[in-house]
Amino acid sequence: MSDLAAIEVPGFRGDVITPGHHDYDDARAVWNGAVKRRPRAIVRCGDTADVAAAVRFARDRDLEIAVRGGGHNVAGTAVCNDGIVIDLSTMRAVSVDPIERTALVQGGALWGDVDRETQAHGLATTGGIVGHTGVGGLTLGGGIGWLMRKHGLTVDNLVEAEVVTAEGETVRASTDDHPDLFWALRGGGGNFGVVSSFRFTLHPVGPTVLAGPVFWAAEDTTDVLRFYRELADGAPDELGTVIRLGTIPPLPVIDPDLHFRPAIAVASCYAGPVEDGERAVRALRHFGTPLVDLLGPTRYVEHQSALDDTVPHGWHYHWKATNLTGLSDTIIDIVANHSYDATSPRSYAAMFHLGGAVARSPRDATAYSGRDVDHNIIIDAAWLPEQDGTVGAAETAWAREFLDALEPHRAGVYVNFLDSDDDTSRVHEAYGDTNYRRLAEVKATYDPENVFHNNKNIPPAATAQ
Ligand SMILES: Cc1cc2nc3c(=O)[nH]c(=O)nc-3n(C[C@H](O)[C@H](O)[C@H](O)COP(=O)(O)OP(=O)(O)OC[C@H]3O[C@@H](n4cnc5c(N)ncnc54)[C@H](O)[C@@H]3O)c2cc1C
Repeated sequence: MSDLAAIEVPGFRGDVITPGHHDYDDARAVWNGAVKRRPRAIVRCGDTADVAAAVRFARDRDLEIAVRGGGHNVAGTAVCNDGIVIDLSTMRAVSVDPIERTALVQGGALWGDVDRETQAHGLATTGGIVGHTGVGGLTLGGGIGWLMRKHGLTVDNLVEAEVVTAEGETVRASTDDHPDLFWALRGGGGNFGVVSSFRFTLHPVGPTVLAGPVFWAAEDTTDVLRFYRELADGAPDELGTVIRLGTIPPLPVIDPDLHFRPAIAVASCYAGPVEDGERAVRALRHFGTPLVDLLGPTRYVEHQSALDDTVPHGWHYHWKATNLTGLSDTIIDIVANHSYDATSPRSYAAMFHLGGAVARSPRDATAYSGRDVDHNIIIDAAWLPEQDGTVGAAETAWAREFLDALEPHRAGVYVNFLDSDDDTSRVHEAYGDTNYRRLAEVKATYDPENVFHNNKNIPPAATAQ
């Protein structure tokens, strides 16, 4: 089979993009520019029937399958060498039912699409903090974001999913329908089928919220983190915060004199009345001597895209991540000592504050397991494509050494933050023994031949050893 374009994919009405097609290089590119794979074909699906046709076509011919949602996964699992990419990137429709407060979202939508449509009704669900991240991969891994402490993880808001299985059959998964599959989809990644649509619960949010970052000089990092530990401990569920340690990004809203200056930021989003938010962040804004304070009433939909330009498509990225046992003085010292050692001004570390509604669901409620940790960290090495070589190697080493230093303080990991060099033991680590075993059993039911393995793979139970 040298030319898939010449082959009729039975029942398929979308585009088949093969090498030589004018869109081929764009279509195989993913967010992480370091990932350069050459599939035999990218089959761009228009609807669920296309997805089913593509799965059956690839299966019948024993072709590798990669599934592309938003194409954002740092490990680049949305694209494979030699096989076919089931590309959902044109399946981005979002339809909101403002009475039921639900949104039906196609499997290739981005969070920016969801925020735009839901905020037209003053509603939202927990999504990622960067608008060009895909709903598909983020949801299937768990989904953490500004609203999670108030409204739960993205998977806690998932009501049902339409799934094309490894057999090419279309099923619905919910608490009533294929409940084992529904449990596994809520954190188990792309192991169980291709999700053509998700239905989420929505909540009133904004449209204006109190949100934005406050920056302090890097030298203040230890003090800021010790203060932040107390703030986070006593924070109401409405207050979502993310720490960013690196250089100040060159955003137009920030004084150019501060661009690229090493700094720590505490970014917030208050999911409640702005006046209550003002009270919740008052101490934060008055702590020490901020370099710049951008906290203020903001449209939620704008806040959700405020970071988009700081992590553009095409740069080269390498990630290391872990959940943390807490924010002890020792951990704070490690974070303060390593965060500013990167060579590239584009590299940074980020820490999410979890807890709240995330922690109130039992650990086995969904496949996502890390409900009992309050903080995680992602070490995000980033450099320009032309800096591959010395800078790329230095950044990768920085991220690995940073994680190594945190070794005694690790408490699991969020599966969506794993990179391509994180081995299967880290996938196991993401779920813990009990949830991992249960996932392997569900995998054996729905995908016993491990057709969907270009992901953070969980082999089916019989072969899991
Ligand atoms: C800049 C940036 C910011 C991020 N911020 C957050 C954040 O705030 N919160 C958070 O939780 N995560 C965040 N992430 C991590 C994110 O959750 C993962 O990268 C996730 O994999 C992205 O989903 P995607 O659909 O874009 O990925 P893709 O690369 O398209 O897909 C990754 C994998 O997910 C599976 N998949 C995707 N869509 C489907 C589908 N419809 N059906 C079946 N399988 C599918 C496939 O196995 C695929 O290999 C961020 C990532 C980036 C790069």
